[in-house]
Amino acid sequence: MSNKWHQFNLPDTIRIQSTPGKGRECIATQTIPANTTLLTVLPYVTGIFDNNKKRLCAVCVCTHPTKCFSLHCASCDQVYFCSAACRDAYTQDHRDSGCCDILRKLASLKKVDRHCKSVAKLVVMIYWQRRTRPDPLVDALESHYDHWPADVKLDWHRVRQFLWQQFRAADWLRPDETDTDIMHLASKIESNSFGLYLERRADVVAGRALYLPASMFNHDCDNNCEVEQWTEEDLEDEQVSIPSHDLGHPTDPPQPMATMYPSVFTQPRGKNRQMFIKTTRDVQANEPLTISYIDTQLPVATRRQLLAQDYYFACTCLRCAMESATLAKSKKQKSKKK
Ligand SMILES: [Zn+2]
Ligand SMILES: [Zn+2]
Ligand SMILES: [Zn+2]
Repeated sequence: MSNKWHQFNLPDTIRIQSTPGKGRECIATQTIPANTTLLTVLPYVTGIFDNNKKRLCAVCVCTHPTKCFSLHCASCDQVYFCSAACRDAYTQDHRDSGCCDILRKLASLKKVDRHCKSVAKLVVMIYWQRRTRPDPLVDALESHYDHWPADVKLDWHRVRQFLWQQFRAADWLRPDETDTDIMHLASKIESNSFGLYLERRADVVAGRALYLPASMFNHDCDNNCEVEQWTEEDLEDEQVSIPSHDLGHPTDPPQPMATMYPSVFTQPRGKNRQMFIKTTRDVQANEPLTISYIDTQLPVATRRQLLAQDYYFACTCLRCAMESATLAKSKKQKSKKK
């Protein structure tokens, strides 16, 4: 059966299909044992939150072990680097690109919600990157912009205007693109990006990244796959060398690691922050492959509320159905006793 998802180079074990009433689904084409790695995905684009911009390298996304990196992009001061190699890779790509200019203006944009700003940063990176490395998966992602409540749209108003003006001035837009298209991308990022966590502080989200094929996996509260991000700690375990961190010596000669951590914007990155999607149990052929978008330890009502609020769908997974049926039954019994 021919379908439009073939262009995405997925492994033979996975197929993507559009199921009436369920939308896009990732399906196992064969029996897959538990603990099988289905996909390894490099981030397509990353955006580091302003308050952590000095802690994470903008190119290889490694974290400073103790304090802040000092190497940074001299034209915008919005991106920091672990090493001269990462800085040079970034600078080479961004020379005369207009990207620095937009990031600098975005950072100083007043009266804008911090969250909007962090998503807007990714929007800028994607528009910039699209010019040299477009990915059809970005277009295929689902946007919920049409369902955003009016107050959320209002929060975005200034950023929307700003991005529209900047992209138009930089000549980054396709001929038929409107400011609404920019907002659709913002919505896609909100629903499809994954958090980048600080090393050794798994509770601190320091940025966001789009891992494109990973976004094709639907949610289930009884998920049969899980995602895992590699960090420096895992790399150390694997005995793969990582670049020596810059500890305040901007004049250090370029590290010989340039080939391991090439430019994030034109080539795949190194292993750091790579995402693995693994099966957590045996999966049968034709079974949907699912991950969880939320903490599955939460009770059914909270799970459904979070999914509706952040991902715009009512979870109808088997586990939700069973748990809410049990809940309804016990409520009924309680009211009978009264
Ligand atoms: Zn780096
Ligand atoms: Zn810059
Ligand atoms: Zn559910």
